[in-house]
Amino acid sequence: MTEPFAQWQVPARLSRLKDLAYNLWWSWHPEARALFKEIDLALWSTTHHNPVALLQQSGPRLEKLAEDPQFLGRYDSVVRALDRYLNDQKTWFHQAHEAAAGRAVAYFSAEFGVHNSLRIYSGGLGILAGDHCKTASDLGVPLVGVGFMYPQGYGQQRISVDGWQQNVYEQIDWNTSPLRPALTPSGDRMIINVGWGSWTLNVGVWEVVCGRVRLFLMDTNVDGNSAADREISGRLYGGDRTTRLRQEIVLGIGGVRMLRALKIPAAVFHANEGHSSFLFLELLREAVAAGKSFEEAKREVADAGVFTTHTPVEAGHDVFDEELVCQYFKSYWSELGLSQEQFLDLGRSPSESGWNMTALALKLSGRRNAVSKRHGFVSRKMWRKVWPDKPEDEVPISHVTNGVHLATWVQADLARLFTKYLGDGWWERQDDAALWSLAAAIPNDELWAIHQYNKEQLFRLMRSRARAKWNAGQVDPSQVLAQGALLDPNALTIGFARRFAGYKRATLILRDLERLKRLLLDRFRPIQIVFAGKAHPADDGGKALIQQVYRVAKDPAFGGRIGFIEDYDMHIARYLVQGCDLWLNNPLAPLEACGTSGEKAAVNGVPSLSVLDGWWEEGYNGSNGWPIGEAGGRGFGEAADAADAEDIYKMLENKIVPLFYERASDRIPHGWVKTMKESMRSVAPRFCGARMVKEYVDRFYAPALRAKAEPARVA
Ligand SMILES: *Cc1c(COP(=O)(O)O)cnc(C)c1O
Repeated sequence: MTEPFAQWQVPARLSRLKDLAYNLWWSWHPEARALFKEIDLALWSTTHHNPVALLQQSGPRLEKLAEDPQFLGRYDSVVRALDRYLNDQKTWFHQAHEAAAGRAVAYFSAEFGVHNSLRIYSGGLGILAGDHCKTASDLGVPLVGVGFMYPQGYGQQRISVDGWQQNVYEQIDWNTSPLRPALTPSGDRMIINVGWGSWTLNVGVWEVVCGRVRLFLMDTNVDGNSAADREISGRLYGGDRTTRLRQEIVLGIGGVRMLRALKIPAAVFHANEGHSSFLFLELLREAVAAGKSFEEAKREVADAGVFTTHTPVEAGHDVFDEELVCQYFKSYWSELGLSQEQFLDLGRSPSESGWNMTALALKLSGRRNAVSKRHGFVSRKMWRKVWPDKPEDEVPISHVTNGVHLATWVQADLARLFTKYLGDGWWERQDDAALWSLAAAIPNDELWAIHQYNKEQLFRLMRSRARAKWNAGQVDPSQVLAQGALLDPNALTIGFARRFAGYKRATLILRDLERLKRLLLDRFRPIQIVFAGKAHPADDGGKALIQQVYRVAKDPAFGGRIGFIEDYDMHIARYLVQGCDLWLNNPLAPLEACGTSGEKAAVNGVPSLSVLDGWWEEGYNGSNGWPIGEAGGRGFGEAADAADAEDIYKMLENKIVPLFYERASDRIPHGWVKTMKESMRSVAPRFCGARMVKEYVDRFYAPALRAKAEPARVA
């Protein structure tokens, strides 16, 4: 905001292109994507699919298109589709929860992964939040997102010739990003104030439109703030403990204040993971300030509060030194009518020291959930310390298994195939299992042709990236090979892509290199593996795992059958989950809370070979993919790793490779295609975004919204 916000024009006849460009709705509607592509294919690619940047740079071309009747026909049709979508008063929410209308759900998350042109996400948590918002929009759920704008963006990954990850930070350019400053009623830039006592800071507000849902993003890089305060929103999960604490104060407390300033009628406050837990403190403070007793205030906050915990890994939960918390909150607890000890108790779990953001949210929110059935068990066990007098199975944490936004992840030709064989309405009925039983009738040759095409697209992406780096003189020849230049689109291709964190065991399949080599180099039935993923910038252990993979990928002994794609993000994820043959996931169970990439793959007909943990323990049915290990895992340690690796090799050798290469005279692997169809049929209705968001609405949001809705609205 130090720079003025850019003004730019499009021809009057095409004026709605701006609405299209600033509403990320375009990103999950193929006809809108096609329209931008048509404006300038080369520019579409060089702007990394960012319509705001595209329109700003395609002036003369737009003048011409404004007189092209065919383009205008397609433009008008896309604009009509957007308007229909925005004005639809018969959405699922309108029909199922009429009595809950008139109030909003505020969904707090430290990151949102909506589209690559808005780089304010790092991984699974953010993409889940993005999928949640898009699905809420599709279903007509009155939801707004609350998060951060990170001016210094997002760390991009480069791999050195020796396989070591480097992080490159790219400044976000406001003017070409799909966001705009939120304005006050008088048209000024909205700035809110957060802080108390001697510490106060200004927070600027940005607005992102995502279908019918709006995201409001906070940014502390504004005038009047100290240099240190400007840095607060600099980077996602960056900085030291103090910066992190201040970040979370801004997210939670600033977020509530921002909603009030925006006059959003929020009646439900959903904290997606513990980074935003301070929001519950601010709600308490508001209620106490309004004259409620602390106990009354607590009841009120519990009624409005929803909390989702996302990780069974201890280090995934934020714990701050009490001293640091006291430093910032010492004038805050008196406003709650609490003593220092009473206040600190809110963030304590009895058996540990420190201020725990998860414990805080668990204590103050009235509805709490984990993200898969298994994760529910694990979380009740893990957090029983907050309810020491309750038996484990009565710890009040339930589960809502994560799902994925189908329109974002299902490849476009495949979506058309669903329309052809499941019917026009498949989209609205995506969580209806009966509808998906029709998938069995999809002709094998049509499905296989689309899959082959997707696979070729994946290899083309890898080659074009490798070529660009080679051409720019940035890499050694061995790195061109390590990026997948020798991969063969006819060979069985395994995808492994996720964060490189220790418990995900990326190198498990490398345990027995001789055995792996036999599989990779089989003359007639070879396999290949494509890896992608980043390590946290501070996680040298994770970086060492990448290096191990990279060294094998570069080693001529493995024949170029292993590729590593740098800089895993949503764009690459789409190619991978659509274009691999098999999705491998082998975390240390039960540490995978849910896992969503396997769901994305499955709905594209890419079955999983996966540890029975998270969603796969619920989703695996004996014929839609393959299991590793036992439900709940084999425990931790060498023996468990060895047994899980043995499962992987055996499954590949005895079941997966033979099935994939069993070809009829038409060269189609009919047995394999049957597994692909079973994977889509069984996974799509249960692990789609609509099933997930409806569950949140029916169980958590609607009761609170109804309680708060004005009776006058109920006809
Ligand atoms: C889906 C996705 C993830 C999360 O995948 P998991 O299987 O949950 O680990 C992470 N990063 C990207 C880019 C994704 O698309």
